[in-house]
Amino acid sequence: MPLIGRFAPSPTGPLHFGSLVAALGSYLHVKSQGGQWLLRIEDIDPPREMPGASSAIIQLLNAYDLKPDNEVQFQRHQRARHWQVLQQLIYSDIAFACYCSRSELSGQPHFGRCNAKANRAACYRFDISRAPESIEFADLIQGSTAQNLWQSFGDFVLWRADNLPSYQLACVVDDADSGITEIVRGLDLIDSTARQIALQQSLHLPTPRYAHLPLVIGVDGQKLSKQNLAPELDLQAGPTQLKAALQFLGQAVPRQRIEAEILAQAIADWNIDRVPRAERTKG
Ligand code: GLU
Repeated sequence: MPLIGRFAPSPTGPLHFGSLVAALGSYLHVKSQGGQWLLRIEDIDPPREMPGASSAIIQLLNAYDLKPDNEVQFQRHQRARHWQVLQQLIYSDIAFACYCSRSELSGQPHFGRCNAKANRAACYRFDISRAPESIEFADLIQGSTAQNLWQSFGDFVLWRADNLPSYQLACVVDDADSGITEIVRGLDLIDSTARQIALQQSLHLPTPRYAHLPLVIGVDGQKLSKQNLAPELDLQAGPTQLKAALQFLGQAVPRQRIEAEILAQAIADWNIDRVPRAERTKG
């Protein structure tokens, strides 16, 4: 079975150093084992999208020689497929329509179905009582991780009231359709993992291996993110930034000077056991 990994950025802004760490970690993990690496642009949330971000992301990865093994996928093209899977979950009585507003849920994890049909659009939720109370998985970096689905998340959203698929649903369906076996991403997404495994189990899909990378913290003590305007990576700075990302990931820093050669050496040297667990600032 070939290993298949992916990098799945949302086009909410251009790539920053934290995104490069996720792209590089996911790339090296599969490439060092002879696997394939795919790029999926998670453009299912138009209100949060930044015009031009998708092409800027593709251009930067290309300039840094992080080339996907297949055509770039755009998640918005899978909407009919996401809807079809939602119907399957409704049919199996795992998903249900919910008319509660956020304030009606009043911060409590929702549990149990509402019977009120309010005069507003429904969202669709996963009936968490159909999933195990807690899910444990072996994270390749963070170690054994358990999450209590019932207490922490309750009936989470699969389809939003503004008629968009949720990240959890779209991610699980697209990962499975692409045959993804390795999910390497930032630690900020580890909270989604138990929900995604619960969805995989209810759809009888295989569960990939997971590895959650340490987050990059800016000088202000905040996680680098597109929302807090982390600086955009420079197209010309590939060698310097790739080396800085390798150092951040606890890897040997190659002496080579051009992107393709740095990456070839990094593939040969990759050791996931050297990746630090905890978040830290860029070295
Ligand atoms: N699109 C998500 C993000 O940019 C990542 C999804 C994932 O890797 O599962 O934060």
